[in-house]
Amino acid sequence: MEQRSYEFELDRIAALIRERGATRVGLQLPDGLTSVAVSIADEIVQETGAEVIISGNSCYGACDIDEKLECMVELLFHFGHSSALFAQRRILPAIRDATTGLRPDENVIFIELRSTIDVKPVVEKAAAEIIGECVGLVATIQHVHELESAIEVLKQAGKAASISKSLRLDAAPGLVLGCEFGAARAVRCDEVLFIGSGGFHPAGIALYTGKRVIAADPFTRQVRVFEPDELRKKRYMVIARALDAQSFGVLVGTKSGQYKLADALAVQRTALAKGRNAYVIALDEICEEKLLGYAVDAFVNTACPRLVEDLVAFKKPVLTIAEFEVVLGERSWDELWP
Ligand code: SF4
Repeated sequence: MEQRSYEFELDRIAALIRERGATRVGLQLPDGLTSVAVSIADEIVQETGAEVIISGNSCYGACDIDEKLECMVELLFHFGHSSALFAQRRILPAIRDATTGLRPDENVIFIELRSTIDVKPVVEKAAAEIIGECVGLVATIQHVHELESAIEVLKQAGKAASISKSLRLDAAPGLVLGCEFGAARAVRCDEVLFIGSGGFHPAGIALYTGKRVIAADPFTRQVRVFEPDELRKKRYMVIARALDAQSFGVLVGTKSGQYKLADALAVQRTALAKGRNAYVIALDEICEEKLLGYAVDAFVNTACPRLVEDLVAFKKPVLTIAEFEVVLGERSWDELWP
C-alpha cells in the first residue's frame, strides 16, 4: 500500500481524543500500513498528550477488531475498513458496556482510509476488457467515492455503467467487502468492474455471483480478469474430495465479526444425524498448520468466507456450509451459489 495516498484523518483523530478526554488510545492498522504506525503515534502524542498503544495483531477486516487492546484503552482507532457490517456483530462490547458505560460504537472509531489516488487511468485501461455494453461498478471502501468519475470514463469508452447498493450494508452504493457482494449481485449486468487492490474481492464476486469480473487496481494500474467458471471448477474439486468424509472438524472463528457458533453447531447436528462424526473447533486464525493435527477427514469453515480461495491448497478439504450440505446430500450442486 502507498501510505501517502490515503486520508489518515489525523485532525479528526486528535479532535476526538480531546473531545472525549481520552488519556490512552489504541491504533490498529492493516499489515501493509504498519510502517506508518509510529509516525501516527508520534503525531497523536504531540497533538493530544495521550498515551498510544499500537496493535501488533492481524487486521484483515472490520471483523478483526483487536478486542484485547480495546479493553486496555479508552478509544481504539481501527484503520482501513468500513464499519458497515461488523460493528453490530461483536461479542465483547456487551462486557465493555457494563464496566465503562460506553456504547460499543463509541469505543472503536473506524478510519476508512479513503484513497486520494486518481482511478481514471486504470478505469480507462480496464474498459478495453469489458466484453458487453454494460458493466456493474463496485469498489472497496478506499475507492467507493470515485465511482462517479469512473462512470464518466466508461461513458467516454462507450460503455454503460450501473451502480447498485447492497441491501445488507448501510453504506455507500457500490461498496463491497471481502465477504459481502450484494452490490455486485444487484446490478443487472453480467460483468462487474471492481476498483480496488488484491484478488480476494474480485475472486469472491466472480465465485458467488457467477459474473465475469474485471479488477482494476488504481495503485499498480494492473487489470486482471476473474472468470467464475474457473473458480467454481476449483471448488467442485474440493467438494469431490470430501464426498467420502466420515468425520468433520467444524471451524468457529473467535474474532467477533466472524463468530458463528450457532451455524457451527447446526453443521455438527446435521453431520451427526447423517451418521458422520463432527467436532466443533474454535480458533482465531485459520491456517493449515493449526489444522494438521486433527484426526478428521475434512473441515467445514464457518468463519471468514473469503478464505475459500486460500483453502483450496490445504491437504484436507475445507468446505463452506453450502458445500458441506452438498456433500451430505442436503443441497443440490446447482444450488451451491444461489
Ligand atoms: S472477508 Fe473475512 S476478513 Fe474480510 S471483512 Fe469479511 S470476514 Fe472479515
